[in-house]
Amino acid sequence: GNKNMNAKLVLLGDVGAGKSSLVLRFVKGQFIEFQESTIGAAFFSQTVAVNDATVKFEIWDTAGQERYHSLAPMYYRGAAAAIIVYDITNQASFDRAKKWVQELQAQGNPNMVMALAGNKADLLDARKVAAEEAQTYAEENGLFFMETSAKTASNVNDVFSEIAKRLPRL
Ligand code: GDP
Ligand code: MG
Repeated sequence: GNKNMNAKLVLLGDVGAGKSSLVLRFVKGQFIEFQESTIGAAFFSQTVAVNDATVKFEIWDTAGQERYHSLAPMYYRGAAAAIIVYDITNQASFDRAKKWVQELQAQGNPNMVMALAGNKADLLDARKVAAEEAQTYAEENGLFFMETSAKTASNVNDVFSEIAKRLPRL
């Protein structure tokens, strides 16, 4: 098959969970302490190598605010992959992540590769969501789970690489 593929990827999750920061880390290797809130959605692209193939991710970083919820299907429809992001220091953000998973299971592409990212893993002292709970939830719902930190870069490239490996090949 074709060794170079494009893959539409969407990030979903609560405001402040760190979606834009994960993308900025992945695409530019940077972190901003006071990242501005996303309006609507922002587009990025980045290519990763997997074995002897490359995957060019076309990344939609969505806003997360409820008032933009009706726009979300435009971004996840036709997406090959989604990263659902929550903040490990914020239980409500984990609850919101589960709602996004439900919505994708009901409305999304059935072959979508889904990752659950527990972000801000550098803030261990403020943890509210146990890794075991998220891991169990992910396994039960067909996602893979990683804790990430956009700040330290921990597991950020790994989430995208793991998605690239799991994408159905042409
Ligand atoms: P978004 O609304 O989901 O796009 O979240 P942002 O990327 O805008 O991040 C919200 C806030 O959390 C910003 O102040 C970021 O600097 C901060 N932030 C994002 N990721 C991390 C992380 O991994 N660790 C820490 N400590 N802060 C983070
Ligand atoms: Mg954002």
